[in-house]
Amino acid sequence: MMKRDRTPLRIAAIGAGIVGAATAWELIKDGHDVTLIEPGEPGGSQAASYGNGAWISPASIIPMSMPGLWRKLPGYLLDPNGPLVLRWTALPALAPWLLRFLAAGWTVAKVERTARVLASILHDGPTRHAVLAQEIGEPDYIRQTGLLYAYPDRKAFDDEALAWRLRRENGLDWLELDAGELRRREPDLSASYQFGALVHEGAYCTDPGAYVGAIVDAARTRGARLVKARATGFVVMGGRLAAVVTDQGPIECDRAVICAGIWSRVLAEAAGDRVPLASERGYHGVIASPAAGPKFPIMPSDGRMANTPTPAGLRLSGQVELARLDAEPDWARVEILVTHALRTYPGLGSRASLTIDRWMGHRPSTPDGRPVIGAASASADIVHAFGHGHVGLASGPITGCIVADLIAGRTAGVDIAPFGASRFHH
Ligand SMILES: Cc1cc2nc3c(=O)[nH]c(=O)nc-3n(C[C@H](O)[C@H](O)[C@H](O)COP(=O)(O)OP(=O)(O)OC[C@H]3O[C@@H](n4cnc5c(N)ncnc54)[C@H](O)[C@@H]3O)c2cc1C
Repeated sequence: MMKRDRTPLRIAAIGAGIVGAATAWELIKDGHDVTLIEPGEPGGSQAASYGNGAWISPASIIPMSMPGLWRKLPGYLLDPNGPLVLRWTALPALAPWLLRFLAAGWTVAKVERTARVLASILHDGPTRHAVLAQEIGEPDYIRQTGLLYAYPDRKAFDDEALAWRLRRENGLDWLELDAGELRRREPDLSASYQFGALVHEGAYCTDPGAYVGAIVDAARTRGARLVKARATGFVVMGGRLAAVVTDQGPIECDRAVICAGIWSRVLAEAAGDRVPLASERGYHGVIASPAAGPKFPIMPSDGRMANTPTPAGLRLSGQVELARLDAEPDWARVEILVTHALRTYPGLGSRASLTIDRWMGHRPSTPDGRPVIGAASASADIVHAFGHGHVGLASGPITGCIVADLIAGRTAGVDIAPFGASRFHH
């Protein structure tokens, strides 16, 4: 690995999820003096990066908000077993975000733009992860097996024609599988799935939390410091950053990167930018030693969830729950995932026979589904790198590269204008 020739700066990265870890790694490669500020374990269970679906999918360019969603939304919200649920107590606080969310997907033209923008940071996610995992000496965390979208039939696939058209237009290819081919590849999959779309380029991570920990360990081996603290604000003098304030005292630095997932909102505000960031809470259940399951990752279209085989077991992850950040988990959401899996893989057996590890975490979501990456208003020394919503694992490494480019004054390989916080300044 080459060390890039740059003037070293003291840089604080706030938060050690996948975004903070990848950012720290890229900054270390640039020869900077890096401090990671993290109150928990890097990649620990408090982080979205711990429990996600583990998909690194170039196909995840379709935003949640799509034309016509407003018509389906009430049905979703009223169905306790659906993929999307709203805790009514959260509605007053969430209403402005929800309106922006609906507006972001109001027309096909808006969604086409979002898909283009997301493709710019997702198209080479699998390659970037393979390179990163190789660089830290842990290539086995990333498996490039392809990702399978399973449908009850061809019609169900055709019903999502807009999504697949956008994928095609953004350079993605897939293989269409008929019932026989599906069964040959995934013998445990229920016969109620008769059609599949296999995205060859897709990859997955065998253990996202441990992978984040390994990236941080590698950065520490190369000189990064890990400080167990919670950042609370910034000392900015004459537009220049002097320090990050933490609950353990100030940390002097020349640059800071806000990469604290859902907790970035207050820090971004302290850095001069009000960003509408909401938690789309999600859940996982990991079935230990499952008697049946997918050989490779599958997304059953009717479940809107990722089924990912991992060494720890079959990871079922999904659900969108809009609730207050501090609300208690609703473990019934995991039961919905498990019940669906029992139908998807009949060989799994009965619910009573399963040992399940349950988790809830916070997708850091902007209404338009695009992360916030770029200089903060209060000082260009503070860089935003948060708001990755449903695609933060896949786009973590490229975010780290963009941040390193910005700090080095290099032109990023990606047009970063669509990611600026200023899009919310009205
Ligand atoms: C159920 C579910 C399934 C998902 N599936 C996928 C998927 O398959 N593929 C994909 O690409 N994405 C997926 N995602 C999204 C992805 O997990 C997130 O976008 C991504 O993990 C966000 O990473 P992050 O580093 O920004 O935040 P996080 O991983 O949340 O990390 C933020 C870190 O900041 C720390 N922190 C908080 N406050 C402070 C503070 N004040 N000071 C210092 N540190 C602080 C926290 O302790 C935490 O460790 C999923 C998410 C969920 C919930």
